[in-house]
Amino acid sequence: MKCLNCGLEINNNLKISEIFLFKAKIPNYICQLCRSQLAPLIGRNNCPRCDKPDIGTICRDCLMWEKKYRIINCHQALFEYNQFIHSYFKLYKRYGDVLLARLFYQDIKRWSLQHSFDVVTYIPASPSHLQARGFDPVYELYKDIFDLKKLFAKVDADKPQAQKNRLERLQTPQTFYPLPALEQIQRNQSILILDDIYTTGRTLMHSHDMFLQAGFTNISTFSLSR
Ligand SMILES: [Zn+2]
Ligand SMILES: [Zn+2]
Repeated sequence: MKCLNCGLEINNNLKISEIFLFKAKIPNYICQLCRSQLAPLIGRNNCPRCDKPDIGTICRDCLMWEKKYRIINCHQALFEYNQFIHSYFKLYKRYGDVLLARLFYQDIKRWSLQHSFDVVTYIPASPSHLQARGFDPVYELYKDIFDLKKLFAKVDADKPQAQKNRLERLQTPQTFYPLPALEQIQRNQSILILDDIYTTGRTLMHSHDMFLQAGFTNISTFSLSR
């Protein structure tokens, strides 16, 4: 098998000890060279609520979400946002290489096997983005791993998040609205909301808030990068 990112042949030769571990059965689409450029968040002294790396306490933003929206942030992520992740999302989202959706399959799948939720949903692309790109990047990233439910939609915003500065992002008003499918979900179910990148947290906090307003209490969020 070749690395989806760089085309190098992936060495999947397993050590004897690995053959007996479940992780050996999960397909891998990233080579060791690319993997060595990632900065995993696990095992570091992160914000306990949002996985902001190496700060060792509840971060300012999480305290702000609690004060302003009464949201106790419950977010996990896999990799620190760095140059490799930046280049990956540029190829995947800006240049629309949909095959790259599976690059982190093994990591996300492994996380999914270690956590359990009643309902898994995702941050949907806005209609104009979907039309321009031809696919929904968050949906494609997770569709083979989780049983995804589309429970809410996004209105077209004034300008894309990526073109906004930090203040503009934080001040963006709620752009999500619930779909009829949300009404079918029992309010005591645990909800997981997926996104690709967590930057200021605003996007996920808006969706978290929407579920809170709808009467849900057990809400977690997850992103590939933070
Ligand atoms: Zn590679
Ligand atoms: Zn935090």
